[in-house]
Amino acid sequence: MSILIAGNWKMNMTPAESAVLAREILSGMASIEKCCDVLVCPSHVALTSVRSVVDGSALQLGAQNMYCEPKGAFTGEISPGMLLASGCSHVILGHSERRHVLNESDEFINKKMKLALQSNLVPIICVGETISERNDGLTVDIIKRQLELGLKDCRPERADDLAVAYEPVWAIGTGKTASPDQAQQVHVYIREQLRSYYGKTAMSIRILYGGSVNADTIDSLLMQPDIDGALVGGASLKAVPFLALIRAGTKANNT
Ligand code: PEP
Repeated sequence: MSILIAGNWKMNMTPAESAVLAREILSGMASIEKCCDVLVCPSHVALTSVRSVVDGSALQLGAQNMYCEPKGAFTGEISPGMLLASGCSHVILGHSERRHVLNESDEFINKKMKLALQSNLVPIICVGETISERNDGLTVDIIKRQLELGLKDCRPERADDLAVAYEPVWAIGTGKTASPDQAQQVHVYIREQLRSYYGKTAMSIRILYGGSVNADTIDSLLMQPDIDGALVGGASLKAVPFLALIRAGTKANNT
C-alpha cells in the first residue's frame, strides 16, 4: 500500500495563512516524481480556503474532528456532511489532545467513527498510551481497549475506508520520537487486532505513526514493515520540513 504523509495543523494559522502553506506544499510536490499520498488537515475555518488551492490536485484534504450526529442542535460542532461539502476526504478522530484535554471517551469516539464510515469520510482513529501507562507495562492493554471500543461495530468495506494512527502521548509535541522498534512492536499488535476484526483486509489498512516525526527520524520509521506513513503535527506547519517528509515517504514508497 502507498505511504501516506498526513499533516495535522491543529489550532494554527488563519484561513489565508493556511492557503499559503497549502500552495507551497503543492508547488513542492510538483517536482516530486511518483509522489506518495499526502493529506493536510487544517482547522475547520480554513477548510474552504485550502480547498480552493488543492481542488483537483493530489493534495488531499481532511478535518481534525467532527461530531457524532449528522445535524441538529449541537452548538459549535461540525457534521460529516459539512466536512464533505468542504472537500474533505478524511477526518482525524480520537486524537490524544481530544482524549486528554477535552476528555473524549472511547464510546464517544466510536459513535463518530461509525458516522464517519457511514458518511464515506475516511476516519483516522488515533490510539496511544501515556508515559505512565507505558512505564507501568500497560501499553498493549491501552491500545487494545482503544481499538476494541473505538472500532466497535465499525465494518469498513475496503481497507482504504479506515486508517489507524499510533501516537504515543509521550511523543506528541515533545521532540521524543518512539524508536523504530518501539513503534513497530505496537504497529504489529495493532495489525493483529485489526486482523482479528477484519481478516485479510487488515493487511492493507494503513497504520500511521505519529509523535515528533521529523526529517531525521522518518526514514528509519518508514523502514519498519508495519508503518505505512506518518501523522505529523509540528513538522507539518512549514513547507520545507513537511516536503522533506513527503520526499522520504516517496522514497520509501518506491523502494
Ligand atoms: C500530532 O499532533 O498528531 C503529532 C504527531 O504532533 P507532533 O508531530 O508535533 O508530535
